[in-house]
Amino acid sequence: MQRSSLKSLLLLVVLASVSAVRCRQLVAQDRFDTQKTVVSKDQPSVPVQHFVSNGWHVAATRNFRIHHRADLTSSSLQRLASHLETQRHTIGSTWLGAEFAATWSVTCDVYLHQTDLQYEQHSGMPVETVGYSRLKVGRGKVWSRQLDLRWHRDHTRTFDVASHELTHIVLADRFCWRQIPRWADEGIAITVETGDRRERLANVLQDAVEANRLFSIRDLLTARNYPSDRQLADLFYAQSASLVAFLAEAHGYQQVLRLAEMSTEQDVSVAVASVTNWRDATELETRWQAWLRQSRKADSLIVAQEK
Ligand SMILES: [Zn+2]
Repeated sequence: MQRSSLKSLLLLVVLASVSAVRCRQLVAQDRFDTQKTVVSKDQPSVPVQHFVSNGWHVAATRNFRIHHRADLTSSSLQRLASHLETQRHTIGSTWLGAEFAATWSVTCDVYLHQTDLQYEQHSGMPVETVGYSRLKVGRGKVWSRQLDLRWHRDHTRTFDVASHELTHIVLADRFCWRQIPRWADEGIAITVETGDRRERLANVLQDAVEANRLFSIRDLLTARNYPSDRQLADLFYAQSASLVAFLAEAHGYQQVLRLAEMSTEQDVSVAVASVTNWRDATELETRWQAWLRQSRKADSLIVAQEK
């Protein structure tokens, strides 16, 4: 194997590992969710082709190959296929805008697991995670996309986790040359979630505001990893989603991604001044916290209306 090929391979493996780590902690917290997300039955139906490949039954759409063990009803498969395609389009057109490709050059392989053992063996993750995305990214390209899902009889939670993980997969198209910052990747993913989990994080954020123990904006924007402490990790996710919502409302989705890119390359105050009309990170922090204190708790992690 040539060295350049070996280096490329190593880069892909490293980035895949980074992607693997970033989701582990977040989805592990999903075990504390109790309510279920209501999935619309009115989602547009998408064409699905069925065939068998390498021992798996496959339901294929334009951008996804859903691998399963032939123990799901066709209506469940159809609903999941429609959910994935619809969410992919919604997330991509919202956040990537004109850059969003109607068709991925590399299809996303989705693996559905009916048992805990199947899920853990195939994904390498504990079953509490429910869903797990794996990306190979580098040299300006997404080389592979994979999503493992634990399928539950009440599969609404599976759908919500799929939306979260799909956000990471869609955003990877924009971040093929650099690692997307944690605050942006998880913050955006949480704003596309629905239901109880986001409500729980809104409570965490509200408590931190009242106790005056928020992360500083500089710590949030420069964090390379999540806090290992679970409560601090919750606050990190909650603040990240809140910052995303605030910035999107004030400056638009594209500027959120521009700040995510620039904050990895230069001082955060320089990045803030370049992307917004504010002086520096301190002014961003002041304005964001004022917005946070004025927001209704339930709205603090939702992009109400893009500018
Ligand atoms: Zn995540």
